[in-house]
Amino acid sequence: MKLVQAISRRKLALLWLLMLALLVVALGTLVWLAERYESSQVQSQLERDAANVVNDIRSGLTRNVQSLQALHAGDPSPAAWAADASVLLRDHRELLRLEWRNTAVGMVVAVDSPYRAPVFDVLGRVETQADVSLACATAQRFNSAAYSSNYFLPQPDSLGMEVIELCIPLVVSGQARGYVVATYSLAEVLSSLVSRQLTRSQEVSFAEADGARLALRGVARRGTPVFTARQLLDLPGNTMVVRLDSWRGAPGVFPNLMTVLVILMSLALLVVTVLLARDTRLRQRAERGLADALAFRKAMEDSLLTGLRARDLQGCITYVNPAFCQMVGFSADELRGHSMPAPYWPPDLAREYQQRQEVRMAGGAPPREGFSSVFMRKDGSFFPVLVMEAPLINAQGAHTGWMSAVVDITEQRRVEELSRTSQDRLQATARLATVGEMASLLSHELNQPLAAISSYATGSLNRLQTGGAAVDTADLAMAMRRIAEQVERAGKLIRSVHDFVRRRAKVREPVAPQVLLDAILPLVQLQARKLGVQVQLDVADALPPVLCDRSMVEQVLLNLTRNAMQAMEDPAVAERVLVLQVEQIQEWVVFSVSDQGPGISPEVAERLFTPFFTTKDEGMGLGLSLCRTVVEQHGGALSFAANPPQGTVFRFTLPISEPL
Ligand code: ADP
Repeated sequence: MKLVQAISRRKLALLWLLMLALLVVALGTLVWLAERYESSQVQSQLERDAANVVNDIRSGLTRNVQSLQALHAGDPSPAAWAADASVLLRDHRELLRLEWRNTAVGMVVAVDSPYRAPVFDVLGRVETQADVSLACATAQRFNSAAYSSNYFLPQPDSLGMEVIELCIPLVVSGQARGYVVATYSLAEVLSSLVSRQLTRSQEVSFAEADGARLALRGVARRGTPVFTARQLLDLPGNTMVVRLDSWRGAPGVFPNLMTVLVILMSLALLVVTVLLARDTRLRQRAERGLADALAFRKAMEDSLLTGLRARDLQGCITYVNPAFCQMVGFSADELRGHSMPAPYWPPDLAREYQQRQEVRMAGGAPPREGFSSVFMRKDGSFFPVLVMEAPLINAQGAHTGWMSAVVDITEQRRVEELSRTSQDRLQATARLATVGEMASLLSHELNQPLAAISSYATGSLNRLQTGGAAVDTADLAMAMRRIAEQVERAGKLIRSVHDFVRRRAKVREPVAPQVLLDAILPLVQLQARKLGVQVQLDVADALPPVLCDRSMVEQVLLNLTRNAMQAMEDPAVAERVLVLQVEQIQEWVVFSVSDQGPGISPEVAERLFTPFFTTKDEGMGLGLSLCRTVVEQHGGALSFAANPPQGTVFRFTLPISEPL
């Protein structure tokens, strides 16, 4: 169990690790993709800008070609041309110099830009003739404007610039009239023809194929540009590369909205994962607690000696614990799902049980203290049980069935039976002890009638021997009657003891209180005479019969009267009167035995009914405890009280029997 838990815990940890790793990879990929997307956005924007730059330059150059061609409108004189050219140069900073060349590419007139010193001062125009001629040859060939390749033009301030020549053939009325040659500064082309917006945040440059920059414009920043876009600017006779460098940099991780969103989402995901992990941990803890509670409950159910059985509302068994299975001898599988009649119901009682079950199903609540029943084991033997039932209420508060606790009361019954027999035996013993006492009294008491008989017999014999024929038969008859009387008296005495000792069948019957008194009085008198006690009877008239076991109640009366007389044995007791009173109070007949003895001290009173408690030398201490048991068995109560001015009164009640 532990091993399985450890393995599953390791597996769980592994799964968590895997999930975390996947999460990190997924989040990383997401951030990377977002960044890539941002970069591609910037790159394509740059490409669009580059295309715009090329367009700007191309349209600017085309406009210039038209303006230059317009210089020749109306076949102007060289001076007029120069004046117009000056105006044009003033308007176009990118143009460094305008020249009118004749058809042999010789100089007719030249005008320099007013914005700077003549650019050919250092190099000399002759040096560049080849480039101009080449461009003009191309222009001639295509009969349209053509550009030379770019070249470096040194300047006096030891700097220089990249320039390009434009040659436009002049045709007037179908005749070639020479060429217009314009010298462009590449740097100025960038600053004049390219819209300012495009150069504000990026660097625009003309570049060579190897990457060397010829002219540039725009924000000059140090460091390597992050984004670069190149576009070809192909002009008739020349092709250049326009390059755009952006220092905007890779989109920052934070300022970028999308990345921020992705990161926020990732963080949220992480938080959710952490919360989930915590929740899982709590759940695991709860599960462990639940498993512990279940194990505890199972251990408890298994160790329970009381059988547990649950049934649904249809009477179908849904659960039994091991104790119940052991009790009835069926396995849990045999019982579970079994409907009525249950296999442990004795076949003869099944109908009765079924009815009881129907009452239960109809809503009749079972008795709280439980009810006794008889179950049958699998081997067919019966055994008594005590069943306590309670409704089963589920978590939603709905009544789903009945839970019963079943106790096998075979042993309890056996113990009860045992205690009853031992009680009976004890009573018999006590009775025999009383008989022992009686026997000694009897022998003493019998002396009197026997002595009387003996003296009557002796007297009669003497008469017969001395009187001869003159014996008075009347005297003899009288003596014989006396003898018979005495014999009857002795017989009565013996019979009363015999009646008392003989163990009658235990039956409860309606008995008149007087009959009870009559039965014990001869025995009471025996003792009373010996102890010099006067017995007084106070029996109410028309007493109803009581429902009792005669021999038992007689024994109680005998015990109480004997105790009372023994209490008055003390020589200090002046008046020895025993009062036996019987009266009716409501549905009870109350017997009282009063004496005038020394009374009962509180210490003795405390232990009065404890078996074997006695203050007498030859006492057994069983009398009162048995009296109370007997009276209580009859449904009555035994009590005692002081009997002012002196003595004690013991009272007990017996229920009156129903009128016959
Ligand atoms: P036993 O008579 O064998 O001693 P009982 O159970 O009948 O046993 O009585 C227990 C004790 O109760 C007696 O020893 C006696 O001390 C006390 N007792 C019983 N009846 C009386 C009585 N009427 N007056 C005073 N003491 C009594």
